Amino acid sequence: MITENKNTDAWDREHLWHPYTSTIDPLPTYKVQSAHGVRIRLDDGTELIDGMSSWWCMIHGYSDSRLNAAAAAQMNKMSHVMFGGLTHQPAIELGKELLKVAPKCMHNIFYADSGSVAVEVAMKMAVQAAISASGSHVKTNFVTIRSGYHGDTWNAMSVCDPVTGMHGAFGQALPVRYFVPQPRSRFGGEWDEADIKPLEELLAQKSDEIAALILEPVVQGAGGMWFYHPEYLRRARALCDRYSVILIFDEIATGFWRTGRFFACEHTGVSPDIMTIGKGLTAGYLTMSAVLTTAEIADTISRGEAGVLMHGPTFMANPLSCAIALESIRMLAEKPMESIVANIETILKRELAPASALEGVADVRVLGSIGVVELKRSVDVGRFQKRCVEEGVWIRPFGRNAYIMPPYIISEEDLSRLCQALIDIISDERNY
Ligand SMILES: *Cc1c(COP(=O)(O)O)cnc(C)c1O
Repeated sequence: MITENKNTDAWDREHLWHPYTSTIDPLPTYKVQSAHGVRIRLDDGTELIDGMSSWWCMIHGYSDSRLNAAAAAQMNKMSHVMFGGLTHQPAIELGKELLKVAPKCMHNIFYADSGSVAVEVAMKMAVQAAISASGSHVKTNFVTIRSGYHGDTWNAMSVCDPVTGMHGAFGQALPVRYFVPQPRSRFGGEWDEADIKPLEELLAQKSDEIAALILEPVVQGAGGMWFYHPEYLRRARALCDRYSVILIFDEIATGFWRTGRFFACEHTGVSPDIMTIGKGLTAGYLTMSAVLTTAEIADTISRGEAGVLMHGPTFMANPLSCAIALESIRMLAEKPMESIVANIETILKRELAPASALEGVADVRVLGSIGVVELKRSVDVGRFQKRCVEEGVWIRPFGRNAYIMPPYIISEEDLSRLCQALIDIISDERNY
């Protein structure tokens, strides 16, 4: 199967690591020549409709002319300059735009390199603030909900789901966190009071040890693509206030309109103390993330023992990334994003509905521009993707979830073709 594929590169297969792959028996890869709009063009000229937004980030599609122009203009001034002792207009302008769209209580911004690093920084902020506020050196642990995903670096991994995440591969190496069950009340369904009880009980017993609660608001992404009731966030906020626990929302996957609101926490109006953003921030052009927090948290850290936040990456506030992110946010502000995403949601709901009747399907759920078909068993990704390429679409499932998360510029026709291809493939169990 691999040697037949004209788009495979033998050197790549021998030497390059791809995400979560074996070097002995790697999954096939497809070599991309270029990408424009929602089309990914392979080496042999095959065109694929992109249903992944390149892991959720390519929100305006590939090679957008405005973003390309913003990048070129900034590159001609400077691609990078250190942020220690220097500052620049792209960082300032981007920060102003972020504070306009973030929950009102957000006040201080830390620019970081990637989503995982943003989570590390958020966790460091929480620990420094908790020690400073409580005077206790044991109020340093974290609680999170099961089936979450927060990234691949050390501390981020420690708050990923211990089973679907990567804990098993690292033995005793990871810090041990507190986990409570995932809320089972569905988004748009009835709220079940039982969902909040485990968190309530845990905080009643362990809040002396817990600096923060970290979770993905409303949509759990790579840990299982689950959409839960926003009431959970309201109740979690109240519990955090009662037990002096910092609330961190990881909006890396959900931000920038993915769930139908600019940020997923807007489904409830609940604000966190710290939030992380990434993925869609630079519209998929460059790696960059940010951690936003309140003046209270920032100042509590500054009044603490160290007196400063102990983090400062080399590429902090990279001007090229900032300039592209700024242009992307301006583009979002100019477009009727609420109705664009509502329209994508309507089409996903309509086109994916027939999947519910299929033998191998456990659940179908849609929220904003995320359409998930949960299967009854795990997918053979290699086999599934070979069929996708034959159908002219790009969809990459994980575990039991096959999902579509297109760039917002996708046409109704392309979106219908994506959904149709997904249904065709999963309607024959030999395809996965
Ligand atoms: C992708 C993701 C991360 C990690 O971001 P990277 O840029 O891959 O490091 C963290 N949290 C959530 C919710 C994510 O979806």
